[in-house]
Amino acid sequence: MLNVAEHLPAGLLEAEARQLHEILPGPTLIHLPGRRSAPLFVSILLHGNEYSGLLAIQALLRHHAGRELPRALSLFIGNVAAARYGLRRLDHQPDYNRIWEGEGTPEHEIMQQVVRSMAHREVFASVDIHNNTGQNPRYACVNRLEHGFLHLAALFSRTVVYFTRPAGVQSAAFARLCPAVTLECGRPGDPQGVAHAHNFLESVLRLNAVPRHPVARGDIDLFHTVAQVKIPPGISFGFGRTATDIQFEEDLDRLNFCELPPATRFGRINSPRPVRLEVRDEADREVNESFFSYDNDEIRTRVPVMPSMLTLDSQVIRQDCLCYLMERLELNQELGQERTGA
Ligand SMILES: [Zn+2]
Repeated sequence: MLNVAEHLPAGLLEAEARQLHEILPGPTLIHLPGRRSAPLFVSILLHGNEYSGLLAIQALLRHHAGRELPRALSLFIGNVAAARYGLRRLDHQPDYNRIWEGEGTPEHEIMQQVVRSMAHREVFASVDIHNNTGQNPRYACVNRLEHGFLHLAALFSRTVVYFTRPAGVQSAAFARLCPAVTLECGRPGDPQGVAHAHNFLESVLRLNAVPRHPVARGDIDLFHTVAQVKIPPGISFGFGRTATDIQFEEDLDRLNFCELPPATRFGRINSPRPVRLEVRDEADREVNESFFSYDNDEIRTRVPVMPSMLTLDSQVIRQDCLCYLMERLELNQELGQERTGA
């Protein structure tokens, strides 16, 4: 079911994400040659509504049209079927960025095939391109605290997020083969996010090697995801003055990537029932009381944290989560632990 091509399918550089299904039968891996043979691997549209990666790749390939690429490029175009409808995934499909380890669906097997193929080609580095909703800066994510990974991330942004959950993501699978990053490029189609991703890909294609020496301490702000915040089913919520169990602040997403002091207000409870957020740490333990207080029916943070992915989109909140909570990581200390722990 994996479609493999050794050249650019006709029409790919002009197609919109919603039209890809007319050109491609399904998930497609395209190998393009370049001056250096170890390929850069780029995956796009693992979430069918996040099309900035497609625009960035189209800009990159148009820029190099008729010329040899500085390095071989292997491009994986993921959820073509969901992209047709502008959706993250279709109802009967698994999430294409949760199935890069384990088994259980035909799509798991496709991703395994992609990983095997790229291992065989001695992949140079891996980049997975995404978008999000809400007000977020552009940032890079890594699943390993190793110098090569952090160098790659720092090429995109000084804001870097380290996470180990959710499992089954593309970048974690490729982390076993090469330096791997996930790029968060802001809202889908945002021209600045597209240009940023395009410039990043140009830089990586021109790298002779990913640096393996330490990243200078002042060059990145490194954060670690410590918890995910959800709203329990059956609890209604809204933003601003709404007749719901939870009334969140009207512009809650402005708190994204702000290091919040304790007692920062998220909203208020407007219900005679006991209403609490659902907060789970990286080990899936309920840690609500460690992060939030509910005195006087006000929802406030209890400790210094930095939220990410806060969105005002109720559907995204129900399907995924309200936000993630992060803490700052001191670079040298963590890398020291990594070295002794490995
Ligand atoms: Zn995504």
